[in-house]
Amino acid sequence: AAKGEGKGRSQFFHAQMDIDYHYRQRLKTDLRDAVAADALTLVFQPLLDIDSRRVVSCEALARWTHPELGAIAPTTFIPLAEEMGIISQITDFVVRSAVAQCSQWSGDIGVAVNVSARDFRGLDLPSLVDRALREADLAPSRLELEVTETAVIEERELAQSVLQSLSARGISIALDDFGTGYSSLSYLSALPFSKLKIDRSFVQDIAGDERALSLLANVARLGRDLDLTVVAEGVETEEQLNAMLEHTGIQQVQGYLFSRPLPARDIAELIGRLNGKASLASTKRKHG
Ligand code: C2E
Ligand code: MG
Ligand code: MG
Ligand code: MG
Repeated sequence: AAKGEGKGRSQFFHAQMDIDYHYRQRLKTDLRDAVAADALTLVFQPLLDIDSRRVVSCEALARWTHPELGAIAPTTFIPLAEEMGIISQITDFVVRSAVAQCSQWSGDIGVAVNVSARDFRGLDLPSLVDRALREADLAPSRLELEVTETAVIEERELAQSVLQSLSARGISIALDDFGTGYSSLSYLSALPFSKLKIDRSFVQDIAGDERALSLLANVARLGRDLDLTVVAEGVETEEQLNAMLEHTGIQQVQGYLFSRPLPARDIAELIGRLNGKASLASTKRKHG
């Protein structure tokens, strides 16, 4: 019986692998078409200054709605695009659209774009960025590029020279998903980062768990000691926000508590609303 079961299970796994394989093949074909047809879209999620609760910038996030399968998560289609060698086309689109959107926003609100490890080889990022900023007539200081630890370590030398040249133009570089990648920290001071985005796994449990809060506070301190702006990702509750305000030196926050990622047409209104309200609140505090 045991033998039969084993065989059944392995057939099941093979059948599952077939489905996965065919599903991936289909997604790949359709993703290629979607990218060629400019069918990807962008949503934007605000990053707020923790003290004033004003929006300081927005992160651009790619979205793909498959005509039959519906929304496909970027954690699915970005790795596929990397594998297929079409991530550069996506990055090119995201940089140009994000910069164009940002030029419509009020004040000095910035925009952040995620860059893949493959882009260091597949793209001339400094030229792409120069062109996009020139076309939108946007100051380089309004643009931030987010890279992950994995990306900078996979392409260490190239990443260093590309990031230096972007940074020399006045573009900020953020280290994304900090804490989830490698444990070697030597690259932190070698690369021109200006911001550290602490991964949301460090935020999740801080409301009820002192060890989790202390870990987050220490990661934040590491960032502050390196003169980086420290951001917490994935803030979902007031309790998490209050714990951070009281016990960490975190300067900016991003998460569902403030806003889900929104289409461009809704984000300008959200900025107006949040920054209007926050400025009223801080005036009240000052005089009351
Ligand atoms: P990321 O760059 O770390 O982006 C933040 C992710 O966290 C987004 O997921 C966002 O929707 C999600 N998030 C924000 N606040 C919360 C929260 O309070 N709770 C929870 N549970 N999640 C929150 P999204 O949009 O699904 O993107 C996932 C990842 O896909 C991104 O992580 C990034 O690595 C990648 N990605 C997305 N767009 C692009 C792109 O245009 N280019 C590249 N290269 N990668 C992208
Ligand atoms: Mg990011
Ligand atoms: Mg992140
Ligand atoms: Mg993340």
